Amino acid sequence: MRKSIVAGNWKMNKTVAEARELVSKLLSPLMEIIDVERVLCPPFTSLFAVSSMLDGSGIGLGVQNMHWEEKGAFTGEIAPNMVKELCNYVIIGHSERRTYFGETNVTVNKKLHAALKHDLTPIVCVGETLDEYESGRTSEVVLRQINLGFADVDPAIASRIVVAYEPVWAIGTGKASSGENANQVHGQVIRPALSGLFGEENAQAIRIQYGGSVTAANASEFFSQSDIDGALVGGASLKPEEFTSIVKAAVK
Ligand code: PEP
Repeated sequence: MRKSIVAGNWKMNKTVAEARELVSKLLSPLMEIIDVERVLCPPFTSLFAVSSMLDGSGIGLGVQNMHWEEKGAFTGEIAPNMVKELCNYVIIGHSERRTYFGETNVTVNKKLHAALKHDLTPIVCVGETLDEYESGRTSEVVLRQINLGFADVDPAIASRIVVAYEPVWAIGTGKASSGENANQVHGQVIRPALSGLFGEENAQAIRIQYGGSVTAANASEFFSQSDIDGALVGGASLKPEEFTSIVKAAVK
């Protein structure tokens, strides 16, 4: 059985002092939930402080973005080997990166290869906009994101990838998808696409998270579905009790 993975994307929130305070509230409750892979993704500036607090806790640390090059004249960017000094996870192609910072399926693919090369667990986000959803284009959009974003990945290491299905219309809106709708996209679009690229056995091993307005109240609806293997949580990951409840609900 695939072990559930729940990651908290703090987005552009929390100073170092605030990050320390949040982690101090999350640490012991999250440490107890060992049956779920737990990951915190603070902003870059808090990584060092959070990393020392998480040391030995079994809780993973991730970044919300990185560059694919190893070094060079890329002002404002962070390289994979720098990430690897502190983290084991990287979120790639979040819809906010795609919408506001020009991320494309091509850059997603470069970052995915860089993450795998540096032994980071990539959490690759895919998902359709409201317009695409309403015009019945979800499969088409998600398939393109997967086929281009995951191109040329060696099937032998593909099971290390985590996919986050995040319908853009559900992110930060309070309007989550239904569990049934998300499960249908996971099981009938994403997993078959992964199977086509990497073979059925690898596709079955890849975790597919749902993301988009996950809360303590709706988490079980998602985790009870056959093809939902965890969640990428934004807003609710900033609330210690709520995030802990979501992680608890992910225990299989
Ligand atoms: C996210 O940041 O990836 C996300 C899903 O946000 P929220 O849970 O706030 O919708």
